Amino acid sequence: MSATAAPPIDRFSIPDAGGHFGRYGGVFVPETLMTALEELGATYEKARQDPAFQQELKLHLKEFAGRPTQLYFAGRLTEHCGGAKIYLKREDLLHTGAHKINNALGQALLARRMGKKRVIAETGAGQHGVATAAVCAKFGLECVIYMGAVDMERQALNVFRMRLMGAEVRSVEAGQRTLKEAINEAMRDWVTNVRSTHYILGSALGSHPYPMMVRDFHRVIGQEVREQILAREGRLPDEMIACVGGGSNAIGFFFEFLQDENVRLVGVEAGGRGITRGDHAARFEGGKLGVLQGCKTYILQNTDGQIELTHSVSAGLDYAAIGPEHAFYRDRNRISYAYACDDEVMAAFQLCAKLEGIIPALESTHALVEGMKRAKEMRKDEILVINLSGRGDKDVNQVAKILGVKVG
Ligand SMILES: *Cc1c(COP(=O)(O)O)cnc(C)c1O
Repeated sequence: MSATAAPPIDRFSIPDAGGHFGRYGGVFVPETLMTALEELGATYEKARQDPAFQQELKLHLKEFAGRPTQLYFAGRLTEHCGGAKIYLKREDLLHTGAHKINNALGQALLARRMGKKRVIAETGAGQHGVATAAVCAKFGLECVIYMGAVDMERQALNVFRMRLMGAEVRSVEAGQRTLKEAINEAMRDWVTNVRSTHYILGSALGSHPYPMMVRDFHRVIGQEVREQILAREGRLPDEMIACVGGGSNAIGFFFEFLQDENVRLVGVEAGGRGITRGDHAARFEGGKLGVLQGCKTYILQNTDGQIELTHSVSAGLDYAAIGPEHAFYRDRNRISYAYACDDEVMAAFQLCAKLEGIIPALESTHALVEGMKRAKEMRKDEILVINLSGRGDKDVNQVAKILGVKVG
């Protein structure tokens, strides 16, 4: 190592006590929420060190969510690309269809610890709403989900799922009537009902302790990958790839490997229709430092600080801010970032279904696009692991519509 090389980062010292990931993260909320965030932080800190809490969480992850998920060798995709061995981490096999349930379960247990009997959450595509509704039903918690009116229409089936599980879904009519406005409404509710209510935030975003806590609840993904790849191949992978919306599935997948400098880590953002203003959601392609919804990070905004419109074929990646931990590791050159565009995603979605018999979520398909490109450039004895964050059942209607196929 050269004398000038930066010392390795101790991943456990990140964030600091104030929730800072270097110059990112922190706490930016109205005064009225400070007590709630402090209570949550203290409760989480105790729970994290309490073997009984960890034991209980582990049990629910196993029996309710279906962990551990498989690490699957994608033989035909590998053959198709003609390079590195491609493995898929099968988070799509989890109950309710995506990794979101890991975090929802953890936070529901924290709500119970704090004696809060009412839970609120925001949702975009509906996956986090469905996961939250499921855990609230399981633990007998009152559940209110905020969802933009446009999203409610696009994701009508998920709205019905939430209602079947006893959640109240509230339509948000402000602004673009999508995820950003739903988060605003959820925060407004939280300010008003903070004594009785816990807010289950759905990604590694928002004010401290959320980015750290949500990351920790997803670390199980990478812990399993490590064990599984060592058992199967006797060594660590050469490269790992995950899609990045807020960044929760990616950071959970990467965390156990941050110290392993020989494992390349790649996050994939939504390139939408291409990198022109308003047509994409790739925060590292033209985003700037700013504060949005409690968090200092990279944000797609105009020169006046107004949040830009975003677009992606996948609702789960369609958000103007990225989790602060990603911005931190990008600056350190530990995680690199790419983007995939809608048309590439549509092609890879169909290819994966045909070659592997697996219909991936459109979000996860972004990671597949980049993974396939890189696998082709790699040697046959190299190993690539892609996080398949969710299943595509929720997306088939939308894909049919884009393809001009009439279903039902
Ligand atoms: C919500 C979602 C994402 C994006 O959220 P992250 O916090 O970035 O993980 C990705 N994949 C699926 C399947 C999702 O449901």
